[in-house]
Amino acid sequence: MASAAKTQVETLRNYVGGQWLPAEATETREVRNPATDEVVAHVPLSGTADVDRAVAAAAAAFPAWRATPPQERARYFFKLRQLLDENREELARLIVTEMGKTLDDSRGEVQRGIENVETACGIPSMMMGYGLEDGAARGIDEEVIFQPLGVFAAITPYNFPFMIAHWFWPYAVAAGNTFIIKPSEQDPGVMRRTFELIEQVGFPPGVINLVNGGHDAVNALLDHPVVRGISFVGSSQTAAYVYQRGAASGKRVQASGGAKNAIVVMPDANLDTYLSTMMNSFYGAAGQRCLANSLVIPVGSAHQETRERVAEAASRLRVGDGLEAGVELGPVVSAAARDRIFAAITSGVEEGAEAVLDGRQVHVPERPHGYFVGPTLLDNVRPGMRVYGEEIFGPVVGMAPVDSLDEAIAQINAAEYGNAASIFTESGAAARRFRYEVETGNIGINVGVAAPMAYFPFSGAKRSFFGTLHPQSRDAVRFFTESKVVISRWTTGDNSPVTGVGR
Ligand code: NAD
Repeated sequence: MASAAKTQVETLRNYVGGQWLPAEATETREVRNPATDEVVAHVPLSGTADVDRAVAAAAAAFPAWRATPPQERARYFFKLRQLLDENREELARLIVTEMGKTLDDSRGEVQRGIENVETACGIPSMMMGYGLEDGAARGIDEEVIFQPLGVFAAITPYNFPFMIAHWFWPYAVAAGNTFIIKPSEQDPGVMRRTFELIEQVGFPPGVINLVNGGHDAVNALLDHPVVRGISFVGSSQTAAYVYQRGAASGKRVQASGGAKNAIVVMPDANLDTYLSTMMNSFYGAAGQRCLANSLVIPVGSAHQETRERVAEAASRLRVGDGLEAGVELGPVVSAAARDRIFAAITSGVEEGAEAVLDGRQVHVPERPHGYFVGPTLLDNVRPGMRVYGEEIFGPVVGMAPVDSLDEAIAQINAAEYGNAASIFTESGAAARRFRYEVETGNIGINVGVAAPMAYFPFSGAKRSFFGTLHPQSRDAVRFFTESKVVISRWTTGDNSPVTGVGR
């Protein structure tokens, strides 16, 4: 049965040195459509030999690519931007088929990825250095230049299989480095298609490579002495591991981790205007976003109205296959994820939370094998409960009412994660305090999903981010380059130092 199915379903290849190569590793894993449970591909679990081959190709390509002027490197990205734009619908559908989020959500993801390509087109300005005549002393000038380092790699999660790779590689490659992407083994299809477009662009062989796989490929990248740096996004546990193991082998590492984001609803919040942005942040992508708000902290009298309106709107969400028009809540990525989320809901109820809406009761008759979890709202969630502190990563919202903004801020700052937090209020003073005091990397003020645009860093703090420089934009360019300071002095014909212009 397994081998019969395998003949019909493709086994993905790696893209190394400008060629599509079968992995040397023989072990594979099934990729399934979460709405139907059908196997759509087999992904090879590449190992050390596959990583070695990709690193060798990337290292060989580096000297010539580095010597290509930045404006010429940028032109490859103009062309890529065009191809991505022409193929955006196909890319979005591939995301739905393997990850499960709705087509609208997937289109948004593709757009956010393309915006990073557009931003990286500005590399001649973005990687410019600066200098100062007589900066060191009279007649001695000083300047800093930013140089690429060599081979970098990105290890990405399943929940944004297209966008997150684009937080990194366009900046790294535009800056003159060469690159390897290791996508999530749960939904590698959209990056496979993206690499077909990359191939059409005609980057020199080895500049950008794709290695499919899981933890073996990650470990080989982390340990490889030629790889200069690692960009990682995934759960906090893996992020901490990647950060430590990468640093132990002398690499620079930026590692974004998990999250448990809260929104504070003040009594003066304008729910008429902002309920929809809140709902999107709770249940968009079935709660599988690192910026999903899975905790609501209503202050004082905001509790009752927020509970009623969220419950009413959530109960109307249409659950189903994300490819179907009108569906607002797709499946979660795997049967294992669904079972884990169900268990988290069960534990919340057992620990005393009140299930206002219980997503374990979901039925989607037209997709009986899909991994669905219905919209869930648990009220009276308290610190100490598993559903309060743990990242559930599903369409499950916990409501934890408090009496004051002080209490709300204290609760957010006591949490182990620090990815994002939002406040809904009409008070400038409350909003300013929130922005000033809350210890998360991204802040929303009357904004549900506080997602930074491509030209801002995607921040994060505490166990949501390990490192210094964040994904996207100037932070990314800085991460992918080293500063070199040049201090220079010249003598005149009579061997005395130059002391002024014109001498
Ligand atoms: P994950 O940690 O399971 O996997 C991420 C990557 O690490 C994958 O490529 C996977 O192959 C690899 N990996 C997994 N376990 C490994 C191990 N033991 N050793 C080496 N490599 C390993 O994460 P996921 O489930 O794919 O993604 C969801 C998580 O990502 C959530 O926690 C979410 O909050 C987080 N996330 C964070 C951000 C952010 O910006 N902070 C953005 C998106 C997702």
